[in-house]
Amino acid sequence: MTSAYPPSKVLIVDDNVANIGMMADALSAEYDILVAKSAQEGLTQALHAQPDLILLDVVMPVTDGFALCRQLKSCEQTHKIPVIFVSALDTVKQQAKGFELGAVDYITKPVQIPILRARVQTHTRLYRQTVQLEALAATDPLTNLANRRKFEEAMSQEIERNQRENHALSLLIIDIDKFKDYNDRYGHGRGDDCLVAVARILSACARRGTDLVSRVGGEEFGIILSDTDADGAQSIAQAIRARLAAANIRHADSEHGYLTLSIGIATVDFAALAGGRPDSRMLVDCADNALYTAKNEGRNGVTLNHWP
Ligand SMILES: [Mg+2]
Repeated sequence: MTSAYPPSKVLIVDDNVANIGMMADALSAEYDILVAKSAQEGLTQALHAQPDLILLDVVMPVTDGFALCRQLKSCEQTHKIPVIFVSALDTVKQQAKGFELGAVDYITKPVQIPILRARVQTHTRLYRQTVQLEALAATDPLTNLANRRKFEEAMSQEIERNQRENHALSLLIIDIDKFKDYNDRYGHGRGDDCLVAVARILSACARRGTDLVSRVGGEEFGIILSDTDADGAQSIAQAIRARLAAANIRHADSEHGYLTLSIGIATVDFAALAGGRPDSRMLVDCADNALYTAKNEGRNGVTLNHWP
């Protein structure tokens, strides 16, 4: 049977090589198997390989499985990965402790292969669905960009991170000029095509791993530029304008004859900031005011505001 997805990755952490071999044999036909013979090695593998499930022995020398589970659940990069304890400790108290630490299941040794397979299948499927739903909930379906909800979440995170690292943070709010007129003249289907075209241009101009391009409203987009000062933000904004001009999307109601956009930039330099830090709303307002100025000055332009 073929599947539409690559196999899930299962990490087996056990100090006993025979246990690892037995579980790996039972699962290797359907899963990519990773192994670790100690808790330390398990943590490294979990961080590095990002498995979709961890089968975790409890009794191990130095650091036991309970302690490793606690570490995994308190770490940003690993806390979502489901953990199943696999242990000869079969008392209700021990199993309850496993669940309290955030495990999704508990399998007792000696391991019964059909039970192991069934539980691994259940939890890898659930995890895949959760990851897919989270991605869906953060995406704008038309443009495939991040949606407003993801944008707001990322703004708060980036403000915190750039303040901590003493960097400058810039935010671009971008609005397509006379988009209502475009829709009225050419219809909403062509209007949607325009939004997709603009989304592609934005993504092409802000392509670092930390850049976040999002559709925040109808014809309004936001770009979060971490570790970017006013000059860096200006040059990206001008690159966006130039690319859209080069795309030459006909717009008969525009004074230019083609589709244009206006951009408001807010920049906060945390290294030079004397007062309190802005929250997400304050920076968006600051960029919105710059956008308003750009619109008033005849559109197809870029305006920058320093915060505060
Ligand atoms: Mg053991």
